[in-house]
Amino acid sequence: MLKGKSAVITGGVRGIGKAIAEEFCRQGADVLLCYRSNEEAAKKTAEELKQYGTRVELIKGDVADPAHAEEAAKLAKELFGKIDILVNNAGITKDKLMMRMTPTDFDEVIKANLNGSFYFLNAVAPVMIKQKGGRIINISSIVGVRGNAGQVNYSASKAGIIGMTLSAAKELGKRGITVNAVAPGYIETDMTEVLTDDQKSAMLGAISLGRAGKASDVAKAVAFFASEGAAYITGQVLAVDGGMAM
Ligand code: NDP
Repeated sequence: MLKGKSAVITGGVRGIGKAIAEEFCRQGADVLLCYRSNEEAAKKTAEELKQYGTRVELIKGDVADPAHAEEAAKLAKELFGKIDILVNNAGITKDKLMMRMTPTDFDEVIKANLNGSFYFLNAVAPVMIKQKGGRIINISSIVGVRGNAGQVNYSASKAGIIGMTLSAAKELGKRGITVNAVAPGYIETDMTEVLTDDQKSAMLGAISLGRAGKASDVAKAVAFFASEGAAYITGQVLAVDGGMAM
């Protein structure tokens, strides 16, 4: 259980981030949810999560802006007095075959997914160091391990997140902070809704469990890394992909 814990979750109002927020609140944690633009989803999610009786706070900003990460860390500290858990979940895709991918397509995805995760890590780690403990969970992707045609930018960002996870785990371990990554496979959210039927059935065909994942499947794995039971686990990348990347 996460009773009495406080968490910062980027991209926490939709899709996988929302499912993580719900799992954390269900387990008794207070959450600060960061979102970029979708006011409607932010308000709706905050309203829905009230049922769990924990604190649900919102902050709007772009994870690609380091000032937003600093602001979010400061706000969480003011609101909750501490930050026990950081989940770097916000992410985007801009899929195109590499020969058609422009430098802007590449930069935008790297900035949101990789730089954004670094900015939050960089802003929250000092708070956790002072507390002498914390849990950082970065959302990567199996595409960061295996690659995927049409996702040179996205797979580079997600592979970068794995490298960052391992290095940060080495730097922060002696401070009582664990850093792990979750690498989802094909999860049904707005992000994958835009894929063609052919792309979806090709992915489904490669999944041992024979179904797409749910956002809640990922949330359970993230909650495990945040839990007491994972106190001695750091620098790990856990695939939550129904056996897609075996
Ligand atoms: P969604 O597109 O459903 O949600 C993405 C979330 O990230 C939204 O809340 C969005 O905010 C936020 N976000 C995106 N860019 C920024 C930004 N620049 N600044 C702040 N917030 C931002 O995606 P998923 O829930 O599917 O994905 C969540 C994470 O899981 C991502 O990192 C993704 O790469 C990863 N993942 C997803 C997989 C899948 O199959 N769905 C598979 C593997 C990994 P807003 O609502 O305001 O736009």
